[in-house]
Amino acid sequence: MKRSGAASDDFKRVEAHDCPMSTCAAPAGSPCRTGKGKVAIQYHTARFRLVPQLAKMFSVPTPAVRKPGSVWTELPRPVSAGAEPVGHVRLGYARASTPRQSLDSQLDSLAEAGVTRVFSEKISTRATKRPELEAVVKLAGGIPSCGVAVTLVVHEHKRLGRGIELAMLAEELKASDVGLEFLAGELKGSHDPSGIVFTVLAAMLMRILEIGQCRSSLHFVGP
Ligand SMILES: [Zn+2]
Repeated sequence: MKRSGAASDDFKRVEAHDCPMSTCAAPAGSPCRTGKGKVAIQYHTARFRLVPQLAKMFSVPTPAVRKPGSVWTELPRPVSAGAEPVGHVRLGYARASTPRQSLDSQLDSLAEAGVTRVFSEKISTRATKRPELEAVVKLAGGIPSCGVAVTLVVHEHKRLGRGIELAMLAEELKASDVGLEFLAGELKGSHDPSGIVFTVLAAMLMRILEIGQCRSSLHFVGP
């Protein structure tokens, strides 16, 4: 399918979804609206990211047929809306290390990225059990078997853990065919379970395990 040929239909794909931005909340079938109640000149990022083919676009313009800039009115909901299968599920996870730290900025960036279901907790990196992380990983892991792609979205990779912890989690996600997406930080981007980031993390895990083995064997050798 040619990108240029498909572009004219892009807005229909976007409008198959309700806009998740609370300030807009345009229902399916209607274009996005501005704070001043006009038809926005482009769709909100959080909305077009719900369409897998458009998720990587920087912007999706509102077509002339929707009269961008004119007074916004609600249009009839397309009959197909809601019936269209969701091909891709994006689940979010947010974590703050202490009860006093706020989760707001992480939750905002996840909402902005079009994540509709977020698991969050305030718990230290040193905690051995992180119930919400376990819950989202468990939920995500069961989805690909239904033929739906799933991505776990976090603000930064540190939210998932560091070193061996992160590497082990990546192994677990890869095993159940769950992708990872980081909105910021060194690993920023969307990573396929068969992609490079998972390969690097797996290699890191091997290396850490090897170092661990060397250390314990050196311990037995002694000085
Ligand atoms: Zn909108």
